This record gives sequence, C-alpha cells and structure tokens, in this order.
Amino acid sequence: MKASRLASAILASALGLGSFAALADVAAPQDVPFNGTLKINVDATDIAHRAFRVHETVPAQPGPLTLLYPQWLPGNHSPTGPIDKLAGLVVTANGKTLPWKRDPLNVYAFHVDVPEGASSVDVEFQFLSPQDTRQGRVVMTPEMLNLQWNAVSLYPAGYYANRIKAETSVKFPAGWQYGSALELASRDGDTVHFKPIDYANLVDSPIYAGKYFKRVDLDPGAKTPVFLNIVADDAKFLEIKPEQLKVHQNLVQQMYKLYGAHHYDHYDFLFSLSDKMSGNGLEHHRSSENGVGTGYFTEWDKSAVMRDLLSHEFNHSWDGKYRRGADLATPSFNVPMQDSLLWVYEGQTQFWGYVMAARSGLWKEDEARDMLALVAATYDKGRPGLQQWRTIQDTTNDPIIAMRRPLPYRNYQMSEDYYSGGQMIWLDVDGKLRDLTGDKRSIDDFAKAFFGMDNGSWTVNTYTFEDVVKTLNDIAPYDWTSYLRERLDGHGPLIGGFEANGWKLVYNDKPSASAKAVEARVGGANLTYSLGVSFGKGGDTLDVLWDGPAFKAGLSPGMKVIAVNGKEFSNDAIKDAVDASAKDKSQPVELLVKNFDEYKTLRIDYHDGLKYPHLERIAGKPDRLSELLKAR
Ligand SMILES: [Zn+2]
Repeated sequence: MKASRLASAILASALGLGSFAALADVAAPQDVPFNGTLKINVDATDIAHRAFRVHETVPAQPGPLTLLYPQWLPGNHSPTGPIDKLAGLVVTANGKTLPWKRDPLNVYAFHVDVPEGASSVDVEFQFLSPQDTRQGRVVMTPEMLNLQWNAVSLYPAGYYANRIKAETSVKFPAGWQYGSALELASRDGDTVHFKPIDYANLVDSPIYAGKYFKRVDLDPGAKTPVFLNIVADDAKFLEIKPEQLKVHQNLVQQMYKLYGAHHYDHYDFLFSLSDKMSGNGLEHHRSSENGVGTGYFTEWDKSAVMRDLLSHEFNHSWDGKYRRGADLATPSFNVPMQDSLLWVYEGQTQFWGYVMAARSGLWKEDEARDMLALVAATYDKGRPGLQQWRTIQDTTNDPIIAMRRPLPYRNYQMSEDYYSGGQMIWLDVDGKLRDLTGDKRSIDDFAKAFFGMDNGSWTVNTYTFEDVVKTLNDIAPYDWTSYLRERLDGHGPLIGGFEANGWKLVYNDKPSASAKAVEARVGGANLTYSLGVSFGKGGDTLDVLWDGPAFKAGLSPGMKVIAVNGKEFSNDAIKDAVDASAKDKSQPVELLVKNFDEYKTLRIDYHDGLKYPHLERIAGKPDRLSELLKAR
C-alpha cells in the first residue's frame, strides 16, 4: 500500500516539478503497533446546540506529533471527513496548552510539539452537527443522534488504523437508549463505557441513540445475533406489525441461504425513522446506518420504494466490508482511496439489495419487477451521457469528483452510475451464467464462491478485477474479461439481462404502481421517457434529458413551469397536454416558464404520448427473472 506522500512525490518527480512540489509533512502509516491506548470520551448531551464535546487522551513521546482527523471515509469512498464541523481545538500536556499548527498542504493534519516530561497529550474539541440540511447531514435532534467516531476523534499519524487501540465512552442525554456494534463494558448513569477496540473497527462502529428506541431480534435464538435498533421522532412510529417483522427476519435467513457464511460475530442494524435527522445508508462490517422517514412501518403501503435499503446495507457486510476492491482497502483514513471496483462493491450490492428485498418479502415480486423496469429504462434511454461520452467504469471516480453535490444535468454528466448501471451488468451476468450452464448455475453460485468463505471473519479480504473473472470462469468458462470490459467501458444501453431472463423492456402510457410511488415521493410528474423532463412540486423542473424534446424546446432544470397550454401548471395538466399533443399532431405542448425574472413561452414538438417503462414476458422463453426473485 502506498502512502499519499510517496504517491505525490513520484508524481511530482515524473512531472519534473522538482522543488515547486511542496508536500504535506505527515508521516505515512506503518504496520507497527501504537504504544498505549487512545482514550476518547464524548459528551453527547448538548442537544440544544447540537454539539458533541470531545475529550481525548493520546499517548505520546516528547517531540513532534501529528494528529489526523479522518478524511477518506469507508463507505463514502471519498475524502468527505467533515472537518469543517470541527471547532474549538485545544491541545494540552501536563496542564499546559500546546500551540498546534494545521498542515497547509493537508488540512486534516494538526502538528504539535510534545514537551519533555510529557507521556500524553489531552485534546478537546467539538463536532458541530449541521443545524439544517443546507449545512450537511443533521445528526442530532431533540429525539435522536447519530455518532460517527471519525467525526469525534483524532488519531496519531504514522500507524495503520488497526494497530491503534482505543477505549471510548459516551455520555447520552438522560434516559436515552442506544444501538451499536460496540460492546458494553460498563454503565455509569447515562455514561456508557465500551470495550477496547482498534481504531479501524471503532470508526466502523457508529452509534444511534434516542429518546424513543426499540430493539427487535431479527434472528431469535441464533448463536450470532442480528438486531434491528430503531430510533424514531415519536414512540408511535415504533409500532411494528408481526407480518412486517417477519419479512425483516426473512431477510437474515435469505442472506444466509445465499452466502452460506457471514462476516460478523453479531450484527446491529441502526435505523432512524425521522423527518428531522437526515436520512442515511452507510455500511459497516457488524452494523449499518439506515435512515428513512417516520412512516416506514406505520405507512407501510407508502414506504415500498425505500424497502431495499436494509437489504442493500446488510449485503455490504459481505460485499464491500469483508471483500473489498484492493485499491480501496487503505491502511488508515488519511490515505487516498481508489474506487475502480465500485461496480462490484455497489453494483452487485444494488443487485442483491433488490433481489433480497423480493426474496425476503419486503417487496412483492411485481414490485421488484417494476422497480427493475425503472432502472432498466434509465440505462436504456435515461442516460444520454452514457451514450455520448462517459462509461460506467469512469463513473467509479464520482465519489471523489462530485461527492454527491447536486448536478445541473445529472442524466448527461452522469454520477455514481456504477450503482444501478452495475446492477444491470450483474443481471446480465446472471442470464449469461444460466445460458452457459443450461440453468444449472447462476449468480447465486458466484455470490457464494466470491463472498461466502471464512465464516465469522471480518478481516478485510481484498480482490482485483482478475479475481472476479477467475471466479466467474470457475462457474462457467467464458471470455469474462471481454464480456465485463465491453459493458464497463462501452456506451450502453445496459438492459441485456432481461431478454436472457425471459422478459423485455417496453414503454406504455400507464405508470406502474412503483413509478407512481416514486412520483408521489417527489411530489411531481416524471415525464423522462416522453417529454424528457421530470418535475418536482409545483412545476419546478428537476431534470431535463440532454437533447430530449423539452431540452430542444429550450427548457432547463433551473426553470419553473407556470402554465401548460394556457392553464395553470399541475401534474395532471402536463400529462393531459402530452395526451392532447398525441391525439392532435398539429398541437405542441406549450409551456409558460419562469427563468429568473423572465417569462417565456416554449413549444415542445412532441406527439408520441405518455411513456412509462414496464417489463413484459417474452412468450416461450423460460421465466428466469421470477426464479431469481423467488425465496430460497
Ligand atoms: Zn451501498
């Protein structure tokens, strides 16, 4: 593993930058033990100001010491450590304040000089939760908090993160309960002391705590327990019906049937149901952070579109946490990551997230099929950027390029398309494996062979592209390198999987129930496959398909549609107008739009009617899709 300094130095000399290439003065991580134990105590009681107050003791020797705030976060695959929310840093030794200096070339590194006679330094700072979502992810509310250890600790430079021991405690607001993969050592009122753990696993073990809390056993009687720890804005949102509990329990068993091994000694889903704390979906080895709106259980009929979240994050314990792309597995949190294999890490997890939602009963089969149709349409006609300039492989750089900032033309710029584009590639692989083996082998065999070894271990097991190809070849010999590269480096469309599975993608004028549910969540009309535009609430233009009919008429995502064919805009009015323009080919869809303070009329010359994606059976071909989605 190369450290950042070395990589920069090589690059600088290759570019002939010589003395102009200044480098951060930060020691590269070494695989040697750190002497002593970090003591990290977090006071999480200041919910009024949404501030976590950190007191930390770092064993040290006299001389220079560099403390790092984690920058490259696993699961984010990017340098998104929230250092802009760190404030109030004071470092002391033997009761005397030590001046600190931030490294000008690595703003996540703080240098101090440890005086003679000192054997440790004391560090105090606050981590300030965003007060609203414009500032970032809100992680503290009057009812709950989400504590991530990377946000509330510094660690010494020069060591692999897993060679540093840490002992931690958290003081929670009075009476709150918590869930975490961390193990309890002792409890002193509202202060919880956790058992010592290495720093890499500490950062991998966040906490959800709340005033309203429920812990549900998802595998009663199992030697390796799996719990669902739920916090909510109010006690009433914690009501779970027996049939809802059952499908979540099924998820655990379906995973075990697929992989035949697991990579934890216990697993805790951390789950927030909140309209105040920001949503989340972040995987860990022995837990996952999951955040949705309040109605997940209590408005079950309306929450279907979110119901692949837990299966997605759970799947990451196998794919992403245990098995990880070799270029992504870094020794500390301040070494740059490379994301070239995210089409496996996220792409296949996206695939199993959908499939396992169906196998467990979180989704009915037709719901899963409708959701897959929406994905397929995206990689059929909804990503002009894929056809015109980018590849799925290139989008694996996006966690570092865009860091999930909103984009002006998402469909053309593309972003993290290795998720859903990757999902389509793996569906394709499943059909190919079945073709090659006369339906004797499938992607289930790949999953078991690639992710299902070494039961109980959660030591990272890395892989390369060649390892993926080798496992596929072991199941069914074929030129998998070319097969995958064509799809990863090509320009689509990526819908090949369905034909091999006995289904085809079609478009008609009726949205599926899932398409309607997705529209309802946004509150607008999605006319991507007809006019080439999707709306938010009240005529706000969200996305305009690059070179599509609306784009050609002059519409852009910054505009608001005020009126359609002379009438006030509504989701129904715009759909009626598309219908009318299909019946009378001389009539365009006429929009009155507001662009800053300017009003203008745009005429969209489109006459093919409403178009929504569906999957339709191909008569006479075996129905392998239903086989894939069926419970094991
Ligand atoms: Zn994921």
